[in-house]
Amino acid sequence: MEPSYLSLSETDFKSRVEKLWDKLTSCDLCGNQCNINRFEKKGSCNAGFRMEVSSSFPHYGEERVLVGSGGSGTIFLSNCTCKCVYCQNWTISQTGEGKEASEEEVAITMLFLQKIGCHNINWVSPTHYTPQLVKSLMIAKEGGLKIPIVYNTGGYDSEDTIKLLDGIVDIYMPDIKYGSNENGLKYSKVNDYWDVSRKAVKEMHTQVGDLKINNYGIAEKGLLIRHLVLPNDIAESEKVLEFIANRLSTDSYVNIMDQYRPCFNASEYEELLRPITRREYIKLIDKAEVLGLHRGF
Ligand code: SF4
Repeated sequence: MEPSYLSLSETDFKSRVEKLWDKLTSCDLCGNQCNINRFEKKGSCNAGFRMEVSSSFPHYGEERVLVGSGGSGTIFLSNCTCKCVYCQNWTISQTGEGKEASEEEVAITMLFLQKIGCHNINWVSPTHYTPQLVKSLMIAKEGGLKIPIVYNTGGYDSEDTIKLLDGIVDIYMPDIKYGSNENGLKYSKVNDYWDVSRKAVKEMHTQVGDLKINNYGIAEKGLLIRHLVLPNDIAESEKVLEFIANRLSTDSYVNIMDQYRPCFNASEYEELLRPITRREYIKLIDKAEVLGLHRGF
């Protein structure tokens, strides 16, 4: 299956880039809706208008449907729309570790990752740089890029931003971090995580549907949801699973992740100071099965 962006006309592609680029003058790319001019100052995400990239490489630690034999062509973007107090990549997301990169440079990186055998281009934490990344993709397409884009996001994307990616992104990989706005505010410092992420993920599912995997075991198109289980039910995981099963599809591919370890500022929250227990994890797997979810865990 060819990635969708190969069928997008040059005119349509340019129009999407323009519409996304316009957003930078009153930025509403994510749920924070800062409405500031990114050409003049930085918003809550700490991102200006130039992309900053922390690293790029074939990643073999992602879900096996993305990795295959050649790896997932990962590009880690600096800064983030959320400020999760337990972030394991906090040097990249919160202190902006990385280097400025032009759209042309990122296009060259994508083409290199394809050349060395990666199965996809995996934009990690792309939301605040979506206009620049889509422009890079347009340039890379001209240069012969033909592998799918994975939009690997924390899930705090505005619905409008996701709508502008229709026909451009083939694989959406959002987190759904919490089942309430309250915990989103307390632990990721954003006002309305649950409301924003549900709308964004619903739009993603409308565009690409459930995850489709080819005969070689590689994801080609669709939605892959990640949910990190937190201790003491801080993520309100049952509500998240109910949303996925009842509002999206029981064929959703869900990675229920058990690897939480206290990092960054988690030490300031007693309830975050331990890994999850086996009992907490098994309870959720059982819940997922009861709900009819059956893929990805
Ligand atoms: S991406 Fe989000 S946090 Fe960053 S400036 Fe735009 S609206 Fe604000």
